[in-house]
Amino acid sequence: KHASKIRLDDVKDGQARDKDKADRATSEQVLDQRTRMILYQMINRGVVSEVHGAISTGKEANVYGAVAYADDLTKVHRAVKVYKTAILSFKDRERYITGEHRFKSGADKGNNRKMVKLWAEKEFRNLRRIHSAGIACPEPIQLKLHVLVMDFLGDRRGWAYPRLRDANLPADEAEQTWSALYIQLLGIMRRLYQVCKLVHADLSEYNILYHKKQLYIIDVSQSVEHDHPRSLEFLRMDIKNTGDFFRRQGVDTLADRAVFDFIIA
Ligand code: ATP
Ligand code: MN
Repeated sequence: KHASKIRLDDVKDGQARDKDKADRATSEQVLDQRTRMILYQMINRGVVSEVHGAISTGKEANVYGAVAYADDLTKVHRAVKVYKTAILSFKDRERYITGEHRFKSGADKGNNRKMVKLWAEKEFRNLRRIHSAGIACPEPIQLKLHVLVMDFLGDRRGWAYPRLRDANLPADEAEQTWSALYIQLLGIMRRLYQVCKLVHADLSEYNILYHKKQLYIIDVSQSVEHDHPRSLEFLRMDIKNTGDFFRRQGVDTLADRAVFDFIIA
């Protein structure tokens, strides 16, 4: 077996070796001792071989690019989502957890680390369900506490697909493509609801990636089962946000009410 190349630049403890201030801020914020241990463990087990810089740094999580080696030693890219354990980011989460029967016992609001773990677990399980239903999304690969490893959505050189918001459609076919993508999204939302029994609950052009006329659903940690007491409210919000986006692209969309009926019927 090949030796894993350990290149955890970000993992090295807050030393001044980081050339980039942003990188340093990132590592200090998220990659605490506990997180580094999880990453080292994953490297030892070959889940990932190298963890690179952040693809995205957000309020609630950072996503890192990573590389792993398949059995035939070909390189595959992975994405590692590290949830933040800081108190501030949790204010908003309760409304998703409360009413979630899957999380009744574990949702201890007083214990942040436990909450983050639940949150990561929720994303992992939702991704598994969505992926199994044949909806394009990252395949979940491994979960350990607040660290989730998944399929990388991007090209072979490690460039992530753009968010739908940043999709650059060739002008000559933009109009047609936006309409087709709108229809595609309606199908995804319906399938998500009917087959996965889930409502995304934070669906927008920011949580959809785009590549070659295909939409990929991401960021499903807050997604709820459709028996959640507020699931239909969240669904209406998803319909409005995505509808507004496509209307801004000039698509002649259905009325939000009609979309709602289509999804739940
Ligand atoms: P925050 O809300 O704190 O910004 P987040 O919860 O929104 O974080 P995500 O939306 O899941 O985190 O991911 C953030 C960004 O990371 C995405 O917009 C996307 O650009 C990138 N990303 C996430 N998952 C993947 C993946 N599997 N492959 C490639 N890029 C990804
Ligand atoms: Mn997001």
